[in-house]
Amino acid sequence: MKAVIFDQFGGPEVLQYRDVPDPVAGSGEVVIQVRACSVNRTLDLEVREKGYFGVKLPHISGEDPAGIVVQVGPGVSEVKPGDRVVINPMLWCDECRPCRRGQENGCLGIRVFGVHTHGGYAEYTKVPARQLIPVPSALSFPEAAALPLSYAVAWNLLVPLGQVSPQDVVLIQAAGSGLGVAGVQIAKLKGARVIAAAGSDEKIERARALGADFVVNYAKADLPQEVKRLTDGWGADLVFENIGASMWERSVACLARGGRLVTCGTHGGSQVSIDIRALYRNCVALLFSLGATRQDYAEVFRLAGAGQLKAVIDRTFPLREARAAQEYLAGRKNFGKVILTP
Ligand SMILES: [Zn+2]
Repeated sequence: MKAVIFDQFGGPEVLQYRDVPDPVAGSGEVVIQVRACSVNRTLDLEVREKGYFGVKLPHISGEDPAGIVVQVGPGVSEVKPGDRVVINPMLWCDECRPCRRGQENGCLGIRVFGVHTHGGYAEYTKVPARQLIPVPSALSFPEAAALPLSYAVAWNLLVPLGQVSPQDVVLIQAAGSGLGVAGVQIAKLKGARVIAAAGSDEKIERARALGADFVVNYAKADLPQEVKRLTDGWGADLVFENIGASMWERSVACLARGGRLVTCGTHGGSQVSIDIRALYRNCVALLFSLGATRQDYAEVFRLAGAGQLKAVIDRTFPLREARAAQEYLAGRKNFGKVILTP
């Protein structure tokens, strides 16, 4: 089969489109014919460049492919050939204390499909059957592949962690990113008022079209000042951060008294300074998470199947153009997900 594989860490030029052996389903595994696979910044681009998470070479990226089951290994009863499925990339141990409590995102033995295994930048991929989620009939394969990481993680941050409610004004940072697009939709679905912030006029207009009540271009405007102005001087009750150092100070300054900030991202750097006194005087909560739980994945696909969450796809590239797709994502021109189709 054809796959996009790299033998060394480095820039996008290390990606090679070439023949590799076909996967064979072992016990409890299935082989999927990949129809769509999303491109993710941290797990694809940063892993390829810096070899994060102990990834082994050669490596095939791609965490959340969607496709058709074509082969089932011994002991698989969950699915059969012909089923439309998408992969939940979180390979939880299901035995540790967080897993037993339904807090799988805290799993002590977590591995990630497409990072610690070969992934979906390929015509076929194999995966444990228990990682499969049925694709609702209303969704295309690219739509299904756009959902797992961004939407389940955004759901985890805003709903169980951030406790978003109709009383909240929610500031969604980087509203044009995969996570941000999901964040705008989920916060609106939960009845909150949404301020979407992004770094270009084009992105903020698209965020408005997604349902954001207010938009701010943080490349032009003073973001904390604008957020205060839009909230009668109060600030945002919930800040969906996910950028890190380059935006941290401004994100914290946007918080209302008693506000919460949720984050799981540091593309803008991970070292920040914190004024403890200012935070406790404002009764502010800083909340951190990683990934999503099984329940988060189930909720997202239930709502997407019912048309209440909509996958936003910026652009689709053929698999052989994975390098161009990654360069496009690296240029931050996208609004929503970038998808590869074998
Ligand atoms: Zn576990």
